[in-house]
Amino acid sequence: MVPVKARVNAWTARLRQQGRRVTAARLAVFEALIQARRHPTADEIYRQVRQRLPSISRATVYNTLDTLVEDREAGVLLEESSGPARFDGKRERHDHFVCRRCGRIEDLHAPALDRLPAPRGVGRVDSHSVTFRGVCRRCDTTLRR
Ligand SMILES: [Zn+2]
Repeated sequence: MVPVKARVNAWTARLRQQGRRVTAARLAVFEALIQARRHPTADEIYRQVRQRLPSISRATVYNTLDTLVEDREAGVLLEESSGPARFDGKRERHDHFVCRRCGRIEDLHAPALDRLPAPRGVGRVDSHSVTFRGVCRRCDTTLRR
């Protein structure tokens, strides 16, 4: 995995190169997302970054997350069970397991899925991620008790 600082620096260089704004707020949001263990919501990132930058607005956090997704520095997980979008700062290809009971989203890497053939006729596929759903081990044990 690329260290946090290296990723932030690379994005900073890219923003500068493209004549886009490099602000403390943008960098703080990116850093918080990379360091997040779970897949945080925009509000969770906002609450965290606000501790460091009390003047940051919620809109800035939302906009920065959108920018990071557009720049392919972040992924966004939309669960059909509604709820707010969860962001993913991990850039390497990986899959997820979502617990239907507690809503926990775990990263997992199933090497067998790395070369999953793209379905025909959908257009040009440039990435993929598989989501497994079920009941996580913790919830499963609670249920059986
Ligand atoms: Zn993930």
